[in-house]
Amino acid sequence: MDLERHDFQLDDLVEKIKQNDNRLIALQVPEGLKMQALEMMDEIETETSAKVVLAADPCYGACDLVHDKMKMMGVELVAHMGHSQMNIDSGMPTEFIDVKYDGDPELNTVLPILNKHLAMAKDRMANQQSVGELTEAEAQEKFIDAVGRMAPLTNTKLGLVGSIQHLHLLPEFHDRLEQAGFDVTIPVGGARLSFPGQVLGCNYSGDDESIGHYLFLGSGDFHPIGLVLHTGKPLAMLDPYSGAAEEMSFERIERILRQRFGLIMSSQDCQSFGILIGEKPGQMRRTLALRMKRMLEKHGKKGYLLALEHIGPDLIDFYPVDAFVNTACPRIAIDDAVRYRKPLITPFELEVALGEKQWETGYMFDEIP
Ligand code: SF4
Repeated sequence: MDLERHDFQLDDLVEKIKQNDNRLIALQVPEGLKMQALEMMDEIETETSAKVVLAADPCYGACDLVHDKMKMMGVELVAHMGHSQMNIDSGMPTEFIDVKYDGDPELNTVLPILNKHLAMAKDRMANQQSVGELTEAEAQEKFIDAVGRMAPLTNTKLGLVGSIQHLHLLPEFHDRLEQAGFDVTIPVGGARLSFPGQVLGCNYSGDDESIGHYLFLGSGDFHPIGLVLHTGKPLAMLDPYSGAAEEMSFERIERILRQRFGLIMSSQDCQSFGILIGEKPGQMRRTLALRMKRMLEKHGKKGYLLALEHIGPDLIDFYPVDAFVNTACPRIAIDDAVRYRKPLITPFELEVALGEKQWETGYMFDEIP
């Protein structure tokens, strides 16, 4: 990743600090940009009379805002970099700072994948017509989408999405893709998302039945895995850092689903569960955790509520329970399950294990709305 090509928009922050006459501010920087944090602190301290303290704990999203601990330290303002505002209140005045990357990848490299996916979406539309003539079992056999749901499509539009530092590319890519013959939409999601086309690892709420396939502008497979698990639709990826194009293969998604099913099976006979509640402001799902506890009790099982700021194997594996249900960041269960000695499952997966929901009607991604 070429850090020099990231644009940190510190001017508004500097203005705000001067206006407020802040004396102590906290800077919160995502993991990938921490190497540049000291440079940013120097710039802010040179331009203003504030001192800057780096919130140096890991930070993976705007769900993880600096909160009241920093208030006790005397911090007056939090500068949170590289993520956008969510529908949460951390209790601290927070200024969100955009980080943009100026890479502009070639569209041609991804067009063959997009054409293949458009054909798959058209097939799925066509298959739908025959579903009415099939028995439910036959329809399930056809595995209407990649996660086994029979979700009807009304169109085969291309959904154009990206991670936050590349969202400024979307309008230009929308036009280029339309010129290349695609019917393109930039989906608008719910309150957890700030911008059209934005996706988070825990929220793909812009998806709708008119979208037949996706193009993701960004790097890595974190967002793509979640997007396919959530939508069940074909996804092409174009990386603005490297210019490389690839697809999120359905084989990969199937492997993940097989792993999830294995964990559900191994949780079925468990008698006691640790129910994880995230203490980070945007991960705290108390109501869901309590619902899981009541559901376990209804099935004659035991659920212990465990609240944590950070979740990791060393912090939970030793509790004498048979399995864990995670209500904090959904990706802890999906992406990190192999690091834990005991089964770590999502709330939907617990419902399947207890027979409250059916695996056969398709996988439900654990979304935070
Ligand atoms: S995926 Fe997890 S870390 Fe990322 S925003 Fe959502 S809850 Fe936070």
